[in-house]
Amino acid sequence: MFKKIIITSGPTLEPIDPVRFISNRSSGRTGYHLAMEARMRNLGPVTFITGPTVFLPSQVEVIQVETAQEMREAIGARFRQADVIIMAAAVSDYRSLKYYPEKMKKSGERLTLELVKNPDILLELGRNKRKNQILVGFAAETEDIFANAQKKLLAKNLDLLVLNEISEANPAFGSEENQVYLVRPDGVRRLEKMSKARIAALIWDDVIGLAGRS
Ligand code: C5P
Repeated sequence: MFKKIIITSGPTLEPIDPVRFISNRSSGRTGYHLAMEARMRNLGPVTFITGPTVFLPSQVEVIQVETAQEMREAIGARFRQADVIIMAAAVSDYRSLKYYPEKMKKSGERLTLELVKNPDILLELGRNKRKNQILVGFAAETEDIFANAQKKLLAKNLDLLVLNEISEANPAFGSEENQVYLVRPDGVRRLEKMSKARIAALIWDDVIGLAGRS
């Protein structure tokens, strides 16, 4: 069905010193299920590019990275050949400006760490996207979720955005179930709370539908 599928997954890990880092609570479950579903349905060769996670799919090409910059390079080298790119990774927005090669010493009562912005990989992909490529992004929002999702869809030139509303009732990160919305330029579809495996299947149904239209 597809020539090449890229799925990114997991958090990124941005080192501060040899023992400390900045990361987030992404488990990598959704990306894992997306890869397994693609394999089960024989949708095409999958390259799975992931930050640190225990959820590694079998029988697909797996590339393990740590930082956003490493993830960007791994995708960049393969982007042109891909016809579907799903960015399920929770890429760290910031990294430490400096890497401290020696473990930072405990000193004063306060410590200020300067952060710099990481590249927005998905934004770059959207800018370079060709007509026959399907680009899927994820968003985790806590307020004005639909307005922000539509903005993101446009700004990042996406075909589909999987929107997580983060709340106490739906932590999304780390849990086995999730409640999401599938946001497309032509409308929003609310999915019931369901397993991340089932969500992955429904995302693929949408992507296959999109491929059929182009
Ligand atoms: O703008 P925001 O970070 O909420 O967008 C989330 C989407 O963008 C996800 O699909 C994520 O993989 C991607 N992203 C990225 N590079 C970043 C931050 C997020 O590719 N630095």
